[in-house]
Amino acid sequence: MEITVAQNAGFCPGVGLAIKKANELLKQEQPVYCLGEIVHNNQVIQDLENKGMITVNSVEEVPENATIIIRSHGEPPITYQKAKERNLKVMDVTCSNVKLVHDKVEREKAGSFIIIIGVKNHPEVIATFGFSGKNAAIIGTEDDILDAYQEYEKTNLGSVYVVSQTTFSSQKFDKLAEEIVKNFWEAEVKIDKTICRTTEDRQLEVKKMAKEATCIIVVGGKNSSNTRKLYELAAQDCQKTFYVQTSEDLENILVEEKDKIGIVAGASTPKEMIEEIKCELERKLEGSGSSKKLARI
Ligand code: SF4
Repeated sequence: MEITVAQNAGFCPGVGLAIKKANELLKQEQPVYCLGEIVHNNQVIQDLENKGMITVNSVEEVPENATIIIRSHGEPPITYQKAKERNLKVMDVTCSNVKLVHDKVEREKAGSFIIIIGVKNHPEVIATFGFSGKNAAIIGTEDDILDAYQEYEKTNLGSVYVVSQTTFSSQKFDKLAEEIVKNFWEAEVKIDKTICRTTEDRQLEVKKMAKEATCIIVVGGKNSSNTRKLYELAAQDCQKTFYVQTSEDLENILVEEKDKIGIVAGASTPKEMIEEIKCELERKLEGSGSSKKLARI
């Protein structure tokens, strides 16, 4: 059996930096509060919570004058305003790629209707929407295009500016952008594919691996949107694609000795978890005894 780990598996630069900064902050003061899960991975959250981080769902839950972390997904302007009203110290670790999208929509919103292609309830999309002004819409599927068009019609704007959630599927973005151009035919439509480089590279590598491997193991939290997209991409080309959160999930997966296994992971999956999955696969296979029999791993 051959096991290959994707080069782009594990923390992306934005998530890595957010966790590093949270760790540094926790050495100086405790508790610190994080608005939403710092990363969609339970093990990482647990580790930081053991060091004194408290995850909250709203600014109102944070005591006045305390420190709050704004995670890499970013937050809409209203959150900063509320934090100011409560005299909170803000450690803003919004990823620079996400900030760039905020800057772009802020610049364009005076003259264009803003469309964000992304998952509607994703925190990054909610944050970008908050910076987009009142003439804006979110499109997650083709079904949303008509509603967005009706919103656009209420304005007297002649142009549309389209951006993306930084972790959205590149394939889906291209299809939706094409449909938007068709449906907003009388408007000047500017497409700005703001999917981040790391995400693009990761998706390309997964597509390639899924064509070459006989089994793909996708490692990451079930609530991680970018990990789910990797799973969907891999499953298009590799029938034996499995989504695992921990090495225990490997128990119900069957692989054969002849399998070529590819391990891929989302931007929120720590390297240690990827290594653990790889070791467990190797360990169980060694324990299976025969190189020909089906190994239950
Ligand atoms: S996926 Fe890209 S944009 Fe999102 S946090 Fe990571 S580096 Fe930043």
